[in-house]
Amino acid sequence: MAIKLMPLPYAPDALQPAVSAETLNTHHGKHHKAYVDKTNQAIAGTALADHSLEQIIAATHSTDKKVFNQAAQAWNHGFYWVSLTPESTKPSADLATAISSAFSSHQDMVEQLITQGAEHFGSGWVWLVSKAGQLSIEATHDAAQPEGEDANPLLVLDVWEHAYYLDRKQDRKVYLKAVSGKIDWQFASENFARQSRWTYPR
Ligand code: FE
Repeated sequence: MAIKLMPLPYAPDALQPAVSAETLNTHHGKHHKAYVDKTNQAIAGTALADHSLEQIIAATHSTDKKVFNQAAQAWNHGFYWVSLTPESTKPSADLATAISSAFSSHQDMVEQLITQGAEHFGSGWVWLVSKAGQLSIEATHDAAQPEGEDANPLLVLDVWEHAYYLDRKQDRKVYLKAVSGKIDWQFASENFARQSRWTYPR
């Protein structure tokens, strides 16, 4: 069973003006699709062919960076789409409590997400992560995901240039400020409550 290109959970123009329809269409239809296609090409006819995307990522993490990069990018993009929403959402009471114990305020946490994403060198991702209920912000390079069995990503923002270049040229911080207003806090709250990683749809 091949890995699917997860559909966008909203219309391509739903996040405007934070992210344009042109960017979302290209990002999803070209970039995300290419990671999915290349993962499928790499696993076809191998022992990984029937595995879930999570299993492929785990199996290739230390042994096959080439396949890992494609598979993890496929997962990260799916997780990014659902980390965003055109709706106005709020953290659950439990997540709000965890945020106020790890950061001075909700706004402070969002600002740290923006700053760490903006200052991250090169391509990658900036994540809000829960480890046994303790929140932190983590930036990862290229396709990398938060490491460790106990690391539960609650949301992610893409800081690869392809996520913003059409809209913002090189200004990653302007993109991050705008896109941070589209974070789906209800989705982050569901991930926090589950205490296990979101799974990519099969
Ligand atoms: Fe991307």
